[in-house]
Amino acid sequence: MNSGKNHKFRYTTDGLYYFNRSTGLNILFDELTCKPEKLSKAPRQVSIALTNICDLSCNHCYAPKSSHSLSYNLLTNWLIELDSNGCIGVNFGGGEPTLYPDLLNICRFITQKTSMAVTLTTHGHNINKKLVQDLQSNVNFMRISMDGIYETYESYRYRAFSDLLDSIKMVSYAIPFGINYLVNRNTIDEIDDAITIAEDLHCSEFLLLPEVPVNGAGGIDLQTKTDLTKWVNSYKGKVPLTVNNDYSSGLPTVDPFISEAGLLSYLHLDAKGFIKSSSFIDCGVKIGNEGIMYALEVLSKLKRR
Ligand code: SF4
Repeated sequence: MNSGKNHKFRYTTDGLYYFNRSTGLNILFDELTCKPEKLSKAPRQVSIALTNICDLSCNHCYAPKSSHSLSYNLLTNWLIELDSNGCIGVNFGGGEPTLYPDLLNICRFITQKTSMAVTLTTHGHNINKKLVQDLQSNVNFMRISMDGIYETYESYRYRAFSDLLDSIKMVSYAIPFGINYLVNRNTIDEIDDAITIAEDLHCSEFLLLPEVPVNGAGGIDLQTKTDLTKWVNSYKGKVPLTVNNDYSSGLPTVDPFISEAGLLSYLHLDAKGFIKSSSFIDCGVKIGNEGIMYALEVLSKLKRR
């Protein structure tokens, strides 16, 4: 990592925010008030679908099925804009980001030219020692998807769970990682065993992802939501839990950012070059020649109407 670029300050309506991408240290100085003209204008976090291409075909997938991928050159321009406007970190997903031909180059670009952190969300089945070695110095955190364990996982992904565990082990020796756990009627009963596996693999974070309906079908049911709330409230494990913001209601969550919300906290950039307030919705604003910050202004105005 370029250590000179590891430190980042963000000016927020909640105070001055310091972030170090190499150590993960976050401090919000909420006793300090930032002048309105200094407030950071980019979202704190941006999720970027590098490509819609994926080599798996999970039933619960909400990612569009197309061959769109982002242009490397356009993306580098947008990343520079985001960085200079106070963005803290980007998460590369898809589709499957390991199938994006310029994955290593774009991660390296961020490390060398910006002070943002890079997170990579992957299904894990294209991980090998060489890829881990290449990413080690340029990715701050990996997120690996897990939909239940063993037979349940295999019924969703059509890939061996043992292969997934091998991939996670390879990552665990080199890069801090978390598990993205799909929660629905089939996976909730396996969550304790999944946590035990996560602990054994030295997982840093267990992200609960209640299943989102695709085209109006599927999704987490009410009983499972209730069971999940009970489970979270009685959780005593060592791996820290996080949850998708859209499903945090009723769960004991902590968000230090009280006033900096909406598009200032999160933005999704899809593989067609549209920005959106969430990866789950269809409508957004296409980024034109004026760049991503201009498109963000347009999207913010549309949301205020
Ligand atoms: S691995 Fe992810 S992107 Fe690919 S089909 Fe499954 S859910 Fe969709």
